[in-house]
Amino acid sequence: MDATVNWDAVEWVILDMDGTILDLAFDNYFWGELVPLRYAEKNGLSLKHAREVLAPLFESVRHTLPWYCTDHWSEVTGLNMAQLKQDVRHRIGPIEGAEDFLKAVLASGRRLWLATNAHWDSWRLKLEYTGFGRYFERVICSHEFGYPKEDLRFWEAARAAHPFEPARALFADDSLPVLSSAQAFGIAQVVGIRKPDSHLPERPIDAVPSVRALAQLTPSLLAHPSAPDSPPRRREV
Ligand SMILES: [Mg+2]
Repeated sequence: MDATVNWDAVEWVILDMDGTILDLAFDNYFWGELVPLRYAEKNGLSLKHAREVLAPLFESVRHTLPWYCTDHWSEVTGLNMAQLKQDVRHRIGPIEGAEDFLKAVLASGRRLWLATNAHWDSWRLKLEYTGFGRYFERVICSHEFGYPKEDLRFWEAARAAHPFEPARALFADDSLPVLSSAQAFGIAQVVGIRKPDSHLPERPIDAVPSVRALAQLTPSLLAHPSAPDSPPRRREV
């Protein structure tokens, strides 16, 4: 079902990074192609054998914090993941229309926060490389708290550290377990992203309202500046 946002009830716009504002093609290439290749080279394995070794390691921690932890994977594979990401940073890029959406959020006077499971060296690299860091008033990283966004405890810890009103928040993400946890926590409006990777087809999301990409929300956002009783609190730069 296509999301229709009630902008009059939104003061905080909280966004995921990978697959929501940045093209997940980077991450799918990195984990699906580059890491198996480098792991094969390092250990003198065929690419097929390397994939067979890595697949169960990946699967065993999916949706848990180690899955998102660069240090964890450096330790497990013996590859320097932070360096590897640096080496291919030219592949990092936004989802079409995402930057215009970010600008529209700021222009509307609402608060714009990022909530990510990405490890520090990953989100810092990506926000710096794309220049998107300038748009966000806060970056909430699940590694601060020890729980991924899939876990309700992440949201409780996030609100304690960064006070906001879930009832007046909009949250967008491309991961259904994350969207469900945000909804269970009480975020009033959650929006799924159906096309996180520009190289892959759109996927259906049935459990929550969704859009193909954030760009779809920009026209209605532009038509709804924030209410006079919630004055703009822009980032001081
Ligand atoms: Mg994501």
